[in-house]
Amino acid sequence: MYSKLKQYIPEERIKKDEPMSNHTTFRIGGPVGFMVLPQSILEVQQVLQLCRQEGYPVFVFGLGSNLLVSDRGFSGAAIKLGNHLKSSYISGDEIFAEAGIRLSELSKKAAASGLSGLEFAEGIPGSLGGAVVMNAGAYGGEIKDVLVEILAMDPDGNLITLAVSDLKLGYRSSILQNTDLIVLSALLKLKPDQQTEIKARMKEFAKSRREKQPLEYPSAGSTFKRPEGVYVGPLLEQMGLKGFSIGGAQVSVKHAGFIVNTGNATARDVMQLIRYIQKKARDEHGVELESEIRIIGQID
Ligand SMILES: Cc1cc2nc3c(=O)[nH]c(=O)nc-3n(C[C@H](O)[C@H](O)[C@H](O)COP(=O)(O)OP(=O)(O)OC[C@H]3O[C@@H](n4cnc5c(N)ncnc54)[C@H](O)[C@@H]3O)c2cc1C
Repeated sequence: MYSKLKQYIPEERIKKDEPMSNHTTFRIGGPVGFMVLPQSILEVQQVLQLCRQEGYPVFVFGLGSNLLVSDRGFSGAAIKLGNHLKSSYISGDEIFAEAGIRLSELSKKAAASGLSGLEFAEGIPGSLGGAVVMNAGAYGGEIKDVLVEILAMDPDGNLITLAVSDLKLGYRSSILQNTDLIVLSALLKLKPDQQTEIKARMKEFAKSRREKQPLEYPSAGSTFKRPEGVYVGPLLEQMGLKGFSIGGAQVSVKHAGFIVNTGNATARDVMQLIRYIQKKARDEHGVELESEIRIIGQID
């Protein structure tokens, strides 16, 4: 497989038995057969078609900031788009950007061009593609508000354009979470505003994150989706779970809505902690907590 991949991708952008822990913000995850870092749509297409021919499973991701990957890793190829497929262009109030660009970089570019609508993205450590798949949002904004359309690739390597309405974006959800489509780029429409005001809002959001979130520890952000009418952090705190640990996985002392890796957490530790919290919330409060973090591979 390695020699076949090398026909399309330079050696330095193919990693064999690469630990996913090097590519997730949780710093957790075992090895993947091959990690490929494509820099063009053509390279994505070639890798996809090769993997399909060889019957090789493919996992596509951005910057790994919403992933919990099994300690055993998984077989097949991981196609990492984050920070590789990352061109962007601004024209008037529209931004076209490839899926791998960092959301925070895009939000800074928009601000520098006097375009408002991506302030919420300041401090979200994912890629644009991941943000579309997850309908990332914060501080009253979400990708859905600014997205016009995406360019995607189907498993056969065909390119398709999908309008925002096709994607059924909801609270941290989209139909992309249940398809094999790869998001390659997106067109966003923003609103002109004073640069100083846009930057002031971003500064405020960044300050709030620093104060409230445990950014000093590896994590995947908020662990659970917010059920209707429930604030997860305060609920977990009320349940006495702040600081509760299983192995190296801990309910953050700073923000109970986050599970953090205090140093040597395994995916199993995190998964057990998630299940423990879910059971306790169900038994004691009748609240169903759904994981916002995407679970990859088999975790016991
Ligand atoms: C400290 C911290 C703070 C956070 N704050 C927020 C927040 O305020 N709001 C929020 O919404 N999220 C937040 N997150 C979670 C995370 O940053 C977002 O969900 C982000 O959008 C994920 O982007 P990513 O590129 O890292 O996606 P990944 O984690 O790489 O992938 C997430 C999912 O999307 C899929 N995917 C990724 N890229 C593509 C693509 N191009 N094509 C097809 N599928 C793809 C993957 O297969 C996976 O299923 C936070 C995380 C951390 C660590």
